[in-house]
Amino acid sequence: MAKKDQAEQKAKQQGTEKKLSSKQKLALERINRLFELTEPTDEYAKRYVSLAKRIGEKYTVKVPKELKQKFCKKCFSLNVEHIEKKPFLVIKCLECGHEKKFGLRKKEVQAKVK
Ligand SMILES: [Zn+2]
Repeated sequence: MAKKDQAEQKAKQQGTEKKLSSKQKLALERINRLFELTEPTDEYAKRYVSLAKRIGEKYTVKVPKELKQKFCKKCFSLNVEHIEKKPFLVIKCLECGHEKKFGLRKKEVQAKVK
């Protein structure tokens, strides 16, 4: 266990992501697939999104940032609005009004300032 922690810490220090197991890779593929299949107008959209999130939790894989920005964390609605408030990107849910801030990457912020 201690050895594993050390390896993880090392990976963090190097800025590299820890290696995913084959099960985790599969889970990530399923998450991506679910989002591909889902349309905001779909009546099952919320179910798909919550399912994708559950898969992520079960296999401890992070849902990619791009996908996270597509849905509301609170009610799983895909009906969200992107508002830019430098240096953040605010994802506002049009259904429940929940807001989530994402930090924009440094490069993106600089490019927009200039
Ligand atoms: Zn919401």
